[in-house]
Amino acid sequence: MNSRFDVIIIGAGPAGIACAQALAGSSLSVLLVEKNETVGPKICAGGLTRMTIEFGIPEDQARTFHIHTVHIDGRPPCRIALTNPLKTVDRTSLGRYHLSKVANARNIELLTGAKLTAVDKGSIVTTKGAFRYRHLVAADGSLSPVRKHLELPSKFGVGLYYEVPRISDEVLFHFKPGIVRSGYLWVFPHLTHTNIGICFNPDTFTAGLAKIILQQYIREKGFQRDGARLKGGLINHLYCGFHFGDIFLAGDAAGLASRPSGEGIHFALASGREIGRKILDAGYAMKEFSALLSLKRRQEGYSRLFESVPRLQKLFLAGYFTLMRRPWMQAHMGY
Ligand SMILES: Cc1cc2nc3c(=O)[nH]c(=O)nc-3n(C[C@H](O)[C@H](O)[C@H](O)COP(=O)(O)OP(=O)(O)OC[C@H]3O[C@@H](n4cnc5c(N)ncnc54)[C@H](O)[C@@H]3O)c2cc1C
Repeated sequence: MNSRFDVIIIGAGPAGIACAQALAGSSLSVLLVEKNETVGPKICAGGLTRMTIEFGIPEDQARTFHIHTVHIDGRPPCRIALTNPLKTVDRTSLGRYHLSKVANARNIELLTGAKLTAVDKGSIVTTKGAFRYRHLVAADGSLSPVRKHLELPSKFGVGLYYEVPRISDEVLFHFKPGIVRSGYLWVFPHLTHTNIGICFNPDTFTAGLAKIILQQYIREKGFQRDGARLKGGLINHLYCGFHFGDIFLAGDAAGLASRPSGEGIHFALASGREIGRKILDAGYAMKEFSALLSLKRRQEGYSRLFESVPRLQKLFLAGYFTLMRRPWMQAHMGY
């Protein structure tokens, strides 16, 4: 294998693969480095909104929902008919599907089982050798070692879930403002199980308490855990820029996930693709990237407003989800 590449991408998640896809067929040599032996598996609820689906998904592995129901403690449920359906898919299938898009690109080499251990000016070290680069793309997730190398701060949301065996047919979001000030519970039915979880801001809440609330919620909804293991992960949502000399940051490594929803796959795919295009053409205007940042800021602005006056939070949420019944509001919020 070569030891010099025009572009080295760290991480074969959605951001890394989308970047590789943008570079596929170009004259640039690309190395895609992944620490796991298999591409795809990731702690994630696998909920996909319109913009993720537009990148293509394995439809035969997905479930489709045209309605979701929002519960806010103490108020009647709000059923929202979606202009664009929400889909659920397991991340291994999604990763395999994304990877298939670059499998035939002659200029892209995939190196799995290779963990990045050090970053230097123009070179990296992995557990499978050292390589030189002209451009380095960090698509290495929320705990990105490249982001650490750049000494950028991060801010995390936390997501915890169980995959319970009973398969339900309804997507639910549940807000408990009196208990979980910043966050919500979800029920995402998949083909083989139902993913039930909670996301929250760790500054306001402990993981121990979140686990108890989640277990209670699962019981309330009539599900059995039946030995399912608690799974969880961090979601970096602090965006500090994406371009630092010859290093680019994409997806969670760039802090691009949405703080209030924890949604990050679309932000990863779109940012990875935009960075690939920028590498190909330094003058590329990156309008999609700007739109992505505006959407993230809009979603975060609403949620900050809701959290700013705790005693009005239920009222704000109820008003917001009443508006979300309107197609224009769904479009405005990226759904
Ligand atoms: C509990 C939970 C639930 C979520 N649910 C949803 C959801 O329903 N919908 C949604 O849109 N988003 C969801 N997200 C967020 C979503 O998972 C991420 O935003 C998305 O995966 C980010 O993609 P990425 O490519 O930036 O990073 P990742 O998907 O994390 O990919 C990073 C890749 O880099 C590799 N890597 C890391 N370190 C190294 C290293 N040192 N060397 C080599 N490779 C390395 C990893 O193995 C991985 O393959 C959820 C997150 C969590 C934690």
